[in-house]
Amino acid sequence: MSFFRSVRPFIVAGPCSAETREQVLVTAAALATIGIQLFRAGVWKPRTRPGSFEGSGIEALAWLKEVKDTYQLPVTVEVAETAHIEQALAYGIDVLWVGARTTVNPFQVQRLADALRGVDIKVMVKNPVSPDTDLWQGAIERFEQAGVQEVAAIHRGFSGYGSATGYRNQPNWPIPIELKRRKPELPIICDPSHITGKRDRVAEMAQKAMDMHFDGLMIETHPTPDDAWSDAAQQITPQQLKDLLAGLIVREEYTQDMSGQMQLEYLRQLMDSIDTEITDLLGKRMELSEQMGEVKKASNMTIYQPARWREILETRVEHAASRHLSKEFVAAIYEQIHHESIRKQLAVLEEATKQTKK
Ligand code: PEP
Ligand code: MN
Repeated sequence: MSFFRSVRPFIVAGPCSAETREQVLVTAAALATIGIQLFRAGVWKPRTRPGSFEGSGIEALAWLKEVKDTYQLPVTVEVAETAHIEQALAYGIDVLWVGARTTVNPFQVQRLADALRGVDIKVMVKNPVSPDTDLWQGAIERFEQAGVQEVAAIHRGFSGYGSATGYRNQPNWPIPIELKRRKPELPIICDPSHITGKRDRVAEMAQKAMDMHFDGLMIETHPTPDDAWSDAAQQITPQQLKDLLAGLIVREEYTQDMSGQMQLEYLRQLMDSIDTEITDLLGKRMELSEQMGEVKKASNMTIYQPARWREILETRVEHAASRHLSKEFVAAIYEQIHHESIRKQLAVLEEATKQTKK
């Protein structure tokens, strides 16, 4: 059984940064009574702009060692340089994590992975700041290929321009879901603190992560969050974490409840037949596209016709509203359909061009 799947949810908690020995030990004492699985604290902090607190470095590693020895609690720190790895290993750190700003850089990730060859250690890889599943998967694979036995992913959300959703980092759920599909054995932990950026939204995001089948949660915890030297707005107290965990509903993928299982089976069959209809209809629609390609070719019309596309988008979105489908959802689907339709029509033209050249 993987370390990160020893219990569900697997809880990683602790301050954003190790600030003082007292702050670290007070937090750990409180968290030890809650029964978390892993104690976190950043000792080298990747700050967006210079001039803010950049961590206490080696000095703080000694505080974490004290936490480990006093509470028999495994500890984790972020590493971004090979020198960080050497120092963390020297202090008996149990798990290393790679931050979002490091995961984006394959050269650096490879250097870190190479430094871990032959080392018995566990690694958690945060998603890159950019919404790129391949880049995240690639970083994970670099550690796996270097022989790291236990690797987990951490979903901490993605940077975007502005914050339309009110989150600090956009969750973009399809990305962790796709990673899970590609790597079913990989444990994935959600970090609601860095996604929301706001302490009063952490609990709802943690619940959502559980409902999305995540294996665990990483939650930033501080004795006096407002005084924190980094990420003050999103940290919660150990007592708030205790309440959050007590209120968390942990649902399972499968149920022993036969009636629930049968109802689900029935609904899935209905859904399967709707999906067949959708595919059949899309096939028919694309056949029409090809015929339209022939007509446009014969009459010398452009394949893409902006006025028609505007009309399609407007009417489909309007009709979809009566089915309670969101404008964004329907527009995204029609963009794909229209794109494919154009591609098919262009293929008809290209075929015609080839024929004339012969
Ligand atoms: C952190 O966990 O405190 C941190 C710096 O995270 P991220 O890499 O997700 O920004
Ligand atoms: Mn933080």
